Amino acid sequence: MKILVPVKRVVDYNVKVRVKADGSGVDVANVKMNMNPFDEIAVEAAVRLKETGMATEVVAVSCGVAACAETLRAAMAIGADRGILVETEVELQPLAVAKLLKAVADKEAPQLVILGKQAIDDDANQTGQMLAALAGWPQATFASELTLSDGRAQVTREIDGGLERLSVTLPAVVTTDLRLNEPRYATLPNIMKAKKKPLDTVTPAALGVDVAPRLTTLKVAEPPKRSAGVRVADVAQLVDKLKNEAKVL
Ligand code: AMP
Repeated sequence: MKILVPVKRVVDYNVKVRVKADGSGVDVANVKMNMNPFDEIAVEAAVRLKETGMATEVVAVSCGVAACAETLRAAMAIGADRGILVETEVELQPLAVAKLLKAVADKEAPQLVILGKQAIDDDANQTGQMLAALAGWPQATFASELTLSDGRAQVTREIDGGLERLSVTLPAVVTTDLRLNEPRYATLPNIMKAKKKPLDTVTPAALGVDVAPRLTTLKVAEPPKRSAGVRVADVAQLVDKLKNEAKVL
């Protein structure tokens, strides 16, 4: 059974992003980039399924600029068997990525696609759901547990008020939540091995996908600075301020 794992190259989660002076977006020049953390969890989940004999091959796919090859190498250092780079300079929106992943899935015929629940740069939380819709496959999002048996995936989801358990037929789309696993650190020997694993490059045109943006960003701005707090003398004053100044009571 083959598992496809889409991995996105994003600004490292430790970096404090800066908004460009013209408000057109976030400045990513000379900024440390890394694999989207939820995608590391997805790669780890797929590799564990391979290690337990439930899967036979793990294929990582990344869509974007040539440097996404580094993200694919990182996925291969965790244990993915090979990588597919869908190379484009166009800034990809979730629908375009979902269409590209659908085209890759048509060629690769995986039984399972494990994505991150969201990318930490656009926080869209859309790509997995769009892919499932385009492919006509069941989806189980925000997985905190994942097992496979009898041609189905069993997924536990943490929802308000408890745990929801879903059983979906394969092929299916699963997206990862934070508690699914703790990704392993890639060891130096595995980083070296990853450099020799196969990495194919294709273009959106070769996959027959139009990736032109459908949404326009009007403006990106820093959140307003938090003003200093005040110390109140007693509960009565606090209630008075909440009622008459903040008007929340
Ligand atoms: P989003 O819908 O943008 O929040 O992204 C959700 C998930 O879709 C990510 O965690 C990745 O697994 C996948 N994804 C989004 N963009 C890309 C991309 N450019 N290349 C590969 N996978 C992607």
